[in-house]
Amino acid sequence: MDLNDGSQEAAFRRRARDFIRANLPDGWGTPDYILPKGDAYLEFLRDWQRRLYEGGFLGLEWPKEYGGQDAGLVEAAIFGEEQARARAPQPLNVVGLFLTGPTLLAHGTEEQKRRHLRKILSCEEIWCQGFSEPGAGSDLAALRTRAELDGDHFVVNGQKVWTSLAHIADWCMLLVRTDPAAPKHRGVSYLLVDMKTPGIRVKPLRQMTGDAEFNEVFFEDVRVPRRNLLGGLNNGWQVAMTTLMNERGAPSISVGAQYYALFSEVVELCRRSRVRGGAAARDPLLRQQLAQLYVELQAMRLTSYRAFSTILKGGTPGPEGSILKLNWSETNQRMQDLVMALLGPASQLMEGSPYAIDGGRWQYEFLYSRANTIQGGTSEIQRSTLAERVLGLARSR
Ligand SMILES: Cc1cc2nc3c(=O)[nH]c(=O)nc-3n(C[C@H](O)[C@H](O)[C@H](O)COP(=O)(O)OP(=O)(O)OC[C@H]3O[C@@H](n4cnc5c(N)ncnc54)[C@H](O)[C@@H]3O)c2cc1C
Repeated sequence: MDLNDGSQEAAFRRRARDFIRANLPDGWGTPDYILPKGDAYLEFLRDWQRRLYEGGFLGLEWPKEYGGQDAGLVEAAIFGEEQARARAPQPLNVVGLFLTGPTLLAHGTEEQKRRHLRKILSCEEIWCQGFSEPGAGSDLAALRTRAELDGDHFVVNGQKVWTSLAHIADWCMLLVRTDPAAPKHRGVSYLLVDMKTPGIRVKPLRQMTGDAEFNEVFFEDVRVPRRNLLGGLNNGWQVAMTTLMNERGAPSISVGAQYYALFSEVVELCRRSRVRGGAAARDPLLRQQLAQLYVELQAMRLTSYRAFSTILKGGTPGPEGSILKLNWSETNQRMQDLVMALLGPASQLMEGSPYAIDGGRWQYEFLYSRANTIQGGTSEIQRSTLAERVLGLARSR
């Protein structure tokens, strides 16, 4: 794989970089810039997504007929890389853009694609992912939320949990059991559910960061039209695999750039910090830890190119996505641990304290990073996937 930009790609990269710079708020990326909070933050992310869409930078690889740009995967990857370099925010509709969109493109009927894809891009409709349940996380196929056919509707009863963005979502990708008698992977179906349907109750869960971005979602006799079945009756497991492969492989090429940008900020923090009575940047132990992180980040960058190359050749991310998921989540946690050590006693000061370094941003990122090795499949599950599907080892019992 040639990692250098051709002339067209270089021109696109310049255009993307200029667009991002011109559209980020003044002061973005400086320690003085404070992100808006609560609803204002959601509005900020919505506005950012709309700007990207109107600027022609969303759905770069999606067909034009569904609101995309027909530009190709390389352009999408370049744009992702430039966003990561600028540490630009994620668009609000992350689930819709990175999970629902690719799943609909792979399995949707023409009617479903026309109905949903454009509104995902324009952020008119926010999506959430209703997969996990209290008794079905790593063992997703143990899910018990049921859907029974009643004429041309499914009637859904059950509960989901950890559903990110459900409190603001318009639609949900819902995994349900439609054949309780079938082996557990076979009796599952995939529904597209309008979150305003009567019988749906969303209860936010507060995380240790203080935010409440995920939720419990309860379904009581929720009627979902049969035309909202995605990928065929009892075929939901295959469809869910497309979603999960995209969840693990989606960061692909941008993930190296994203964590390298964060690393640069950590180095900059070192330059203005003191440890063990001297300048942090001169501390031999810290320098060694930074060098180790740098090596890991280079390995991550190369792995991300490898994963991207798989996507370019095969169209869908393979089980190699698990390497990248393990890599970014665990490297980020090590990086955040290092920052806490660097801050010393100040690491205890959260946002709101006048003495918190950089407005408490590092504490927030440290706390959030604990979720990284759980969300999108835990580290243990990624390791099992790699053992079985990449290395070909015997399945564990
Ligand atoms: C920030 C965040 C956002 C999330 N957003 C969503 C969302 O939008 N939609 C959604 O559906 N879900 C979401 N999830 C849920 C996430 O997918 C699950 O938390 C994850 O799959 C783990 O499931 P669990 O929490 O039930 O843990 P469990 O499966 O109960 O696992 C508990 C522990 O046991 C280990 N374990 C379990 N089985 C095995 C095994 N076979 N071998 C070895 N170890 C094992 C796990 O690794 C883990 O350490 C989110 C989670 C987080 C943290």
